[in-house]
Order: sequence, then C-alpha cells, then structure tokens
Amino acid sequence: MRPSKLLRTLATLAAVTTAALGLTAVQAAPASAAVRNVCYTTAQAGPYATYADQAAAIWNARTANINMAKCGSNLRILYTTGGGSYAQRTSLGNGRVVIDTQQAQQYSPLRIMTHEIGHILGLPDNYNGNCAILMSGGSAGTSCTNSNPSSAEAARVDSLFGFAPFATTGAGVFTGSWPAPATAGAQR
Ligand SMILES: [Zn+2]
Repeated sequence: MRPSKLLRTLATLAAVTTAALGLTAVQAAPASAAVRNVCYTTAQAGPYATYADQAAAIWNARTANINMAKCGSNLRILYTTGGGSYAQRTSLGNGRVVIDTQQAQQYSPLRIMTHEIGHILGLPDNYNGNCAILMSGGSAGTSCTNSNPSSAEAARVDSLFGFAPFATTGAGVFTGSWPAPATAGAQR
C-alpha cells in the first residue's frame, strides 16, 4: 500500500473513531520515516523529461522506501550527444544522469533512463546480457526494451535506502556508464 493511501485510510479511521467517541480530532500520523524522497529535476532534460518521469514512476512502483518526485534537484537529468549515457552519483540518491541522444536512438530510451537512475539509487552495473536484469544495460542488446528492475534489484535499492544514510557526502564519486555498442564481430 502506498503511504498516501495508507494515511488516507488511517485518517478516515481516526475520524470515524473520534466521531464515535466524541473526542477532538487529532492530526494524522506523519509518513513513515523509512520513506526517502529523491528529488529530481527535468529542467535540463529536453526531450527526455517524459522518460525521466516514467522511470521515476517505475522506481516508485517497484520499491517500498523510495519516493521520486519533482521536489528539488538532488538528481538532475541532462542529455548530450555522443560519448555514452552515464550516471554520476555524488551520494546515494544524489547526482546527475546524462542521456546520450545517439544511444537513445539505438536502445530503449526508457531502459537507459531507468538503468542510469538505478545507479543514482545505488546499483552497480551487471553486464550479464540478461534483459530481465535492468543493470545489464546495453549488454542485453538493442532489442531489449525491459525498463523494470528485477525484484532483486528493487530489493537492493530498498535495502540501501533503508540502512544507509540518505545524503551523506560520499568518499568518492561513482560514475556508471552504458556500455559501448558491441563491435561488429560480437554482434548477434
Ligand atoms: Zn550502467
């Protein structure tokens, strides 16, 4: 159940209860402390803003603890042409994602976006060629359009956000890239 839905349910129950008891209504309980906002901005995302919104909705749906929303600029979505897509994570939930317009014509833009945001949420690459794995990225080939993290990937993100500090400054800056296109000899 989503927190907002839970809160509405609790508020309704509280109202009914207090009405029945003739008590003064009390404020609804605050949202669970475990929920972490990841505030992103698409102000510089150009044509990829919609993909960012879709990717945020996917991560929100697949995780229990993460709430991606346009509430700030912890995560900036950018784009470039050539050089490859990548994520630069300054700390968990913070950094920037850069989409390469050339790769986005070759691969599923939504898969690239969700993958790169996965880096911001703490996941490493896992170039095993398995399309069911989001972090396999480009290793799964251009025909792979899966943009959903596996249950294990989503659980890993929940774990990271549940047990790691949210906005501490990292010891180093993580940079994850989308792999270069396969060479002609390696193409399937
Ligand atoms: Zn990657």
